[in-house]
Amino acid sequence: MPQVHPRVLTGDRPTGRFHLGHYFGTLQNRVRLQAEGAELFVVIADYQVLTDRDVAERLAEYVEELVLDYLAVGIDPERAVIFTHSAVPGLNQLLLPFLSLISAAELRRNPTVKDEIAHSQQSAVSGLMLTYPVHQAADILFCKPGLVPVGQDQLPHLEATRTIARRFNARYAHPGSPVFPEPQALLSAAPRLLGTDGGKMSKSRGNAVSLAATEDETAELLRGAKTDAERRITYDPVGRPEVSSLLLLGALCQGRDPQSVAEEIGDGGASRLKSLVTDAVNDHFRPIRKRRAELADDRAHLRAVLTRGNARANEIADRTLAEVLEVMGMKY
Ligand code: ATP
Ligand code: MG
Repeated sequence: MPQVHPRVLTGDRPTGRFHLGHYFGTLQNRVRLQAEGAELFVVIADYQVLTDRDVAERLAEYVEELVLDYLAVGIDPERAVIFTHSAVPGLNQLLLPFLSLISAAELRRNPTVKDEIAHSQQSAVSGLMLTYPVHQAADILFCKPGLVPVGQDQLPHLEATRTIARRFNARYAHPGSPVFPEPQALLSAAPRLLGTDGGKMSKSRGNAVSLAATEDETAELLRGAKTDAERRITYDPVGRPEVSSLLLLGALCQGRDPQSVAEEIGDGGASRLKSLVTDAVNDHFRPIRKRRAELADDRAHLRAVLTRGNARANEIADRTLAEVLEVMGMKY
């Protein structure tokens, strides 16, 4: 019997190139689920770029780079629906009823939004910053997925999505036939890979090693990574978060567990740790980087993948919106 998989949706902000945290936090799970037969939806959240900055710069370029990375890591463009949410009006209209289902106090409590406000480039907090988790609920629920492979920072947003789905169903759906599912988050073994400064590796925080980095750039960035002064290398994610995140990164690249990497390094200190991790990253990503360079020549293909994805996302969003308007009594 072939395994039956729920629909999978997940997405990213076009704020720069993908980094190692994306790969081990979510991209690898997407590729695996698709290979197992899941129908995969990937939203490029272009409006969401405006949560923490005034202007979304180099947007067209970053959108294309994300599509390129999706294909390079192994997402099959023939089967996946890759789309930008700005191109799907039916999806965006779901935002209005969804906003009515969550309180202002709940929005203000969201810990990921608080962290993003702390790192924001803006002096004032915009309405979009507080409400984007609701827009994200529309991104997710329009295609009614069962599973959302994400990093740890997304868990509060997934919880908000589940709350909105539950409240919408309770308020509007016919008894016994819910309009929306309550999708589950899927975390990986590396739900919060750390950047070179010891904070969450992020595209927008200048602390990331990108998938597309050269081997020399990778070595230089990892050489500058924050560690601690203790010579003996041990895996202790709570007590030694930076060292442990590097061990986890090396281990994931080599398909082994971080304790065994720590034992191998022993008293070798941070420099031995960094050189092992650099080699592991460069070995693991060599084929992906090669494929990326090959695919990069065909920009028309990248745009065609997006055009096709946008068309398919619109079909599904229009259907869902029609259902929503019907149960809300907005059929005139
Ligand atoms: P930005 O700084 O612009 O917000 P980002 O690096 O946080 O960029 P996003 O596009 O916001 O990337 O996130 C895309 C997906 O990658 C989300 O599912 C998120 O949880 C996951 N992710 C982001 N950073 C990490 C990380 N360091 N470790 C694991 N997963 C991550
Ligand atoms: Mg982010």
